[in-house]
Amino acid sequence: MKFQNVFKNRVFIGSVLFTAFLYLCEEFLFGFPQSIFFQTIFVYRPFDEQLVAILSGIASVALCFWFVWLSLSIPRKFQIIPISFVVLSSLIQYGFWKAVGRFMSSVDLQIAGATPLETWTGASALYFNWQFLVPIIGFIIILSIFSEQKQKSIVVKQSIFLFLSLIGVCYIYTFTNKTLSIGASLPSFYQTIVHFGFEKIQSSARTEVKFQASNKPSNNIVLIIDESIRGDHLSINGYSRDTTPFLSQLSQEDDIFQNWGLAVAGATCSHPSNALILTGVRPGIDDFELTQTYPTIFQYAKAMGYETYYLDAQTNSIWNGLNASDFENINVWVKASELGDDIESDFRAADRIAEILSNSTGKFIVLNKRGVHFLYEGSYPPTYEIWSPIPTDYYSQPELVSNPYDNGIHYNVDAFFEHLLLDKSILQNTVILYTADHGQTLFEDNATWLHCNYTPMEATVPMLMIGKGLPIVKTENYIASHSNILPTLLDLMNVPPDERKVTYAPSLFSSSLNSSNHHYFLDGGLNVIEFPKSK
Ligand SMILES: [Zn+2]
Repeated sequence: MKFQNVFKNRVFIGSVLFTAFLYLCEEFLFGFPQSIFFQTIFVYRPFDEQLVAILSGIASVALCFWFVWLSLSIPRKFQIIPISFVVLSSLIQYGFWKAVGRFMSSVDLQIAGATPLETWTGASALYFNWQFLVPIIGFIIILSIFSEQKQKSIVVKQSIFLFLSLIGVCYIYTFTNKTLSIGASLPSFYQTIVHFGFEKIQSSARTEVKFQASNKPSNNIVLIIDESIRGDHLSINGYSRDTTPFLSQLSQEDDIFQNWGLAVAGATCSHPSNALILTGVRPGIDDFELTQTYPTIFQYAKAMGYETYYLDAQTNSIWNGLNASDFENINVWVKASELGDDIESDFRAADRIAEILSNSTGKFIVLNKRGVHFLYEGSYPPTYEIWSPIPTDYYSQPELVSNPYDNGIHYNVDAFFEHLLLDKSILQNTVILYTADHGQTLFEDNATWLHCNYTPMEATVPMLMIGKGLPIVKTENYIASHSNILPTLLDLMNVPPDERKVTYAPSLFSSSLNSSNHHYFLDGGLNVIEFPKSK
């Protein structure tokens, strides 16, 4: 085929048209995401990342182009396959865009299986929009006008090109360790699925914690990881509404209560955030992949002779960066189905914790709380409504979003602690460390997503410690972060310094604390974002 003939080729023209249409259409639909991305990367990022961005950008366009070329060249009866792919890609990618302001990442795919169904059904109805149909209709029109069935040999050749451009994208992705979301919805959907596959194939083993303490532990330790609790909406942190009266009262008892105020989450999405907490991996300093190889807190607890419990009020499956072999170090795993999976789940978990702790020592418990998740009015019984009205539409009434959220905190955080500490004698030999996986936007500053993105309010979480005889430390001027949690737990367990397998952030008890450190968190695409200093 002569070069000039390419332009007379209907399939070529159709492929160029749809690729251009998709990129332009998404630029206008979503506020110029690609242009802004490239502008930002050339101003703020180092040269190697700029290079990766350019190469990924080119590979993404090629991927999209060959996908359309192949779709136009196959017999009509098989075109239902690429059409289905475009429908799936559009609905999922634009749903994610509307929900979190970006396309789906491989981390989202991992979480997808573990998220309670009601969250998805609630979200998908909220996030659908007629604009999502535009590229689908465009694709069908292009197919009906420009299709031209090619010989088998040509189709095979085109498939190889498609495969090569896909490998190109994945090569850049996997071997540079840069998880840049580049390209229109379609190629980025392709990349995400393949990237997810790569991650599944890469096997990893955790660093072993081999030693065994000779003495039995003399305390109990409880780590509570709440869901979607923004630190500045607790009255103990100075919030104007009295959302946490019980905790405020408890905070008067200086010797049992330490409040670190507003702390920085490791990530704004649940899955990576939990993975960072349980392994002590430091965002912005360590690679996120280390969450698969660093020892978990359960390994240390077992080595120190603790009986270990994992209570999950959210899911019935393995997630949070843990894998099946991690459960060898967990003696008792209590799943959401056992805790009832409704607004009382966390209260039942509190009962269970109180039961485990009564008259015993040497227990290490992690609770993944159900918390206050969207839609917030589903997090408390109607009789506990203090602040109203409740928005009928979260998008058009952003000023009302705090009402159900604060009701949720008052019930699900404050009344939860009141319930857990009905018998305060458990605090004699128990330390409770409390935080949340991430914050929420509450639709402030024109945000149209909940979390999993880049704003500081999504990374603002509470950090509390409750227990008798805690070391006296100054909490006021220190910005704590999730990275401090694992080393603090190691201190509480008395893990010898020589047995700490990797380099961690300082413990909250450490005397070398200072506020000059930078704090970083990861957005849903695992990009590193710096948290602004505020204290
Ligand atoms: Zn979460």
